[in-house]
Amino acid sequence: MKIVVCVKQVTSGELNPFDACALECALQIPDAEITLLSMGRTGVKGMLEQLTRLGNVNGVLLSDLAFAGADTLATGYALSLAAKKLDPDLIICGRQTVDGDTAQTGSVLATMMGFPVITNVMSIDALDEKGIACKTRLGDEKADLPALITVERINDLRRPSIRSKVKEVVVWTADDIGADKEKCGLKGSPTKVVKSFENESGKRKCKFIAPNELDDAVKAGLAKEPEAIKIEAATEKLKNVWIVTEAPRLMAETVSDDIKVIEKDTAENIAKQIQDGKPDVVLWPSDIWSRRTAPIVSAILETGLCADCTALETDGKDLFMYRPAFSGNVIAKIRCVTRPQMATVRTTLNDVAEVMLAAGKGVRESYDKVEKLAEKYHAELAASRGLVDIGFAPYEQQVGLTGKTVSPKVYIAAGISGAVHHIVGMQQAGTVIAINPEREAPIFEYADYGIIANIEDII
Ligand SMILES: Cc1cc2nc3c(=O)[nH]c(=O)nc-3n(C[C@H](O)[C@H](O)[C@H](O)COP(=O)(O)OP(=O)(O)OC[C@H]3O[C@@H](n4cnc5c(N)ncnc54)[C@H](O)[C@@H]3O)c2cc1C
Repeated sequence: MKIVVCVKQVTSGELNPFDACALECALQIPDAEITLLSMGRTGVKGMLEQLTRLGNVNGVLLSDLAFAGADTLATGYALSLAAKKLDPDLIICGRQTVDGDTAQTGSVLATMMGFPVITNVMSIDALDEKGIACKTRLGDEKADLPALITVERINDLRRPSIRSKVKEVVVWTADDIGADKEKCGLKGSPTKVVKSFENESGKRKCKFIAPNELDDAVKAGLAKEPEAIKIEAATEKLKNVWIVTEAPRLMAETVSDDIKVIEKDTAENIAKQIQDGKPDVVLWPSDIWSRRTAPIVSAILETGLCADCTALETDGKDLFMYRPAFSGNVIAKIRCVTRPQMATVRTTLNDVAEVMLAAGKGVRESYDKVEKLAEKYHAELAASRGLVDIGFAPYEQQVGLTGKTVSPKVYIAAGISGAVHHIVGMQQAGTVIAINPEREAPIFEYADYGIIANIEDII
């Protein structure tokens, strides 16, 4: 079976960890002829060569100045031309890169190849020349081959044996794959970064307290009058904005009073509705379904899609989309030059209990104690993605950019570092109490009360 595995060297210089899982998945398939496909600078060749030592693995690097500055649509275009030359039965991608963070390339590439796509794969349950069956974060799914799958962090990439030899990696330019340079790189990218700046939103003044003062802090939080949710609406508004389901309404209303709701459907049907109805803007929720479907629609319509926006702005003509970049330390302001302008956005508030106890990766060893603490305060359990990703909490509990947005009276964050992707989901909480042994953990910048301790010291 011919398998193409898409891999990227991320800004740290390492192999994207999700792509390492994609490669390990391919290596576990009997009789697989694997070709690594990467787009990047010529320096990436060294990384690919090392990976060819892992088995029946060859490498192709797309390297050309024309490819530089590509967004997901332009990346998908170049990868699809190369993948067509390789003619695989199956393409395996990582769910997302850890620097670009969009989780769009797999779906875009599949659409440009005309392949069905299964995203968020947890395991491959059956595979033969006709089809593939997988367990995914959305349930059991099947597709006929050729197909493309994107995988979660589900395994560890093996190490090469000492005797293994490096194979030559082929470098292809834009001309080698017959690419139209107008559709490549920065030129071919509909989404453009207008500016970027340090992320300051949601910051609070933290009062540090002792572990035995937690009760008092919770009581003070419950006694506080809730403040109205602050969302700044634009003065000049956009017309003709569509939202996919009601979920993005709160965000949509910050830029428009002219909103039409469309329901979840297949990507092809939604693309058809958009072609017929010609909205100027389409906003999607940030749930798993949208993160799979919106990129397919963007590839069909050849329009830009900004992933995981935390805020929107308009001058009445254009939509400006704000999203975290570089692990959330920076916020990028993005404009899409094609129509409709599309984005997946932070979704509406969910109803939650008065007290919410959100657990992070730091308390995985003491999760039973977290549950006891939640019981004590009659708190609803929540989780960071760090904890969900390692299987300690269900996705339904995930708070943040790609989880739910909550606004309890009291939010206790235990063992959560405070990445902006988490903060955007809880910054509307009345009182935030953070428990973390690291004084420098960013979560304290977003908390009203801070307890510098391990969770074990609280109970
Ligand atoms: C596109 C994208 C979307 C994302 N969406 C989300 C999202 O929706 N929600 C989300 O949460 N994240 C999201 N993330 C991930 C986010 O960037 C962080 O990686 C994640 O929030 C980290 O989880 P964590 O804080 O639990 O783990 P870590 O960052 O590993 O932090 C663990 C913390 O626990 C502390 N600790 C250690 N031991 C103890 C102990 N005994 N008691 C108490 N504390 C302890 C440590 O000091 C550390 O600060 C997203 C990332 C990307 C790229």
